[in-house]
Amino acid sequence: MRPRATLLLIEDDPQIQRFLATALEAHGYALLTASTGEDGVQQAALRQPDILIVDLGLPGMSGFDVIRRVREWFSRPLLVLSARVRETDKVTALDLGADDYLCKPFGIGELLARLRVAERHLARLAGGQEEARIEVGDVVIDLAARRVQRGGRDLHLTPIEYQLLATLARHRGKVVTHQQLLREVWGAAHVESPQYLRIYMRALRRKIEADPARPHLLLTEIGVGYRLADEAEPPGGANMTI
Ligand code: CA
Repeated sequence: MRPRATLLLIEDDPQIQRFLATALEAHGYALLTASTGEDGVQQAALRQPDILIVDLGLPGMSGFDVIRRVREWFSRPLLVLSARVRETDKVTALDLGADDYLCKPFGIGELLARLRVAERHLARLAGGQEEARIEVGDVVIDLAARRVQRGGRDLHLTPIEYQLLATLARHRGKVVTHQQLLREVWGAAHVESPQYLRIYMRALRRKIEADPARPHLLLTEIGVGYRLADEAEPPGGANMTI
């Protein structure tokens, strides 16, 4: 088995710590743990993990403060675990610089899928360059040529539709918040106009998706943002949930 990433888990619940240690080590990851935000920030600085996993509900320094602190110098993937289901918490965590989040209870299969996304992101960071050609399902997004094909045929996208798809493609597999999309596609003046997004997303889905009413590529994260699928979601069933 190829050596996988070193993870630092900042989580105060010993049961979840133990469970994740067993499950992740079984999949070849090396896991470091910290039980408080303060210790987590220190360990992140000292031990330079490849991926950080941060629980939002911590005693003392909150998970939000951990993200704020480490994002001053830590540019590698950061996943959030949260028992909270409020959309505003997800948006806050993502806007502070988290790459993704998982709500408890979650399946280990779901976590492994997010870690694969994080590892690909890590590989791109290490390579120092963005991938210019992105394939999802039967859609090919060529960022260098500014061309999108579906099933081998050119798709005609408007400039805004293209920008929207290209932005999601550059962050593929990760949730991009409404605010981030509005800022990157329309500019800072439009961050208060989420209705633009809905209109253009609907148009884009009609061109990209086999069934626009049941999208498989352009996924909605309700109340938070959108995500371009990065791989087929693992089938349910064998997933152990914690
Ligand atoms: Ca907790």
